[in-house]
Amino acid sequence: MDTINDIELTEYFSLCEFECPCCRRVMLSPDLLTRLSHLRMVINKPIYINSGYRCKEENHKVGGVNNSYHLQGMAVDIHVKDFLLFDLLLFAQEIGFNGIGYYEKRNFLHLDIRPGQKRVWKGSKLIGY
Ligand SMILES: [Zn+2]
Ligand SMILES: [Zn+2]
Repeated sequence: MDTINDIELTEYFSLCEFECPCCRRVMLSPDLLTRLSHLRMVINKPIYINSGYRCKEENHKVGGVNNSYHLQGMAVDIHVKDFLLFDLLLFAQEIGFNGIGYYEKRNFLHLDIRPGQKRVWKGSKLIGY
């Protein structure tokens, strides 16, 4: 049986949730995991990870930007069922994710821990911080 990456990282997250869907390779920043766990505790609802680590091929396939933080294990796209996306955004800001993408139509947030200046965007528009 194939159980690669089937490793509990915290009470709420397993390594396989962060792996690249095409090749199952994975990189994960401990700092990203810490903040995500914090967010999980604060909202007290399961967080579904749409996209974690991406290899170059996968990133290209899904139309990610060339310098995407998904390539470095420093970003996730998340979805929370029955939770207002805007409220999720406010919690994520409070916890201190440095980059936050607000994707209203597809009901998910991109969260990353980029160094330097913080930013929140919606489409191509900066909307916060
Ligand atoms: Zn891959
Ligand atoms: Zn993303």
